[in-house]
Amino acid sequence: MAELRFKTKKKTGLLDITGDVGKAVSGSGVKSGICLVFAPHATAAIILNESEPNLSEDFEAAFARLFPPGAYAHNRIDGNAEAHLKSGFAGAGACIPVENGALALGTWQSVLLCEFDGPRERRVIVKVVESDD
Ligand code: ZN
Repeated sequence: MAELRFKTKKKTGLLDITGDVGKAVSGSGVKSGICLVFAPHATAAIILNESEPNLSEDFEAAFARLFPPGAYAHNRIDGNAEAHLKSGFAGAGACIPVENGALALGTWQSVLLCEFDGPRERRVIVKVVESDD
């Protein structure tokens, strides 16, 4: 298992972590199997999609439209309900096939860490399991 750390720089944003996850897969020595990428956080998420600045902007705008600032019950505690809702909606992790010792992503797929309540340091766990199937 590898644990990666990323310092996000803004309140919200998408960070392409494909290269770091790929290095963790290489380092595992697994040639064929499954890679779990997991963000152990309640206000961040992992998604698989195209890494392109305009699209990142579109994702941020779409998340903001889905969960606009409002009178959420959780905001009586720490004022970041929107971040929790976005994280729960997008999900904490993704599973990616590993073939020939590398991530078997689609041509336009990248591993994106979504920050919804930054800036802060985020951890991402990468676990690679061997499978002959
Ligand atoms: Zn909270």
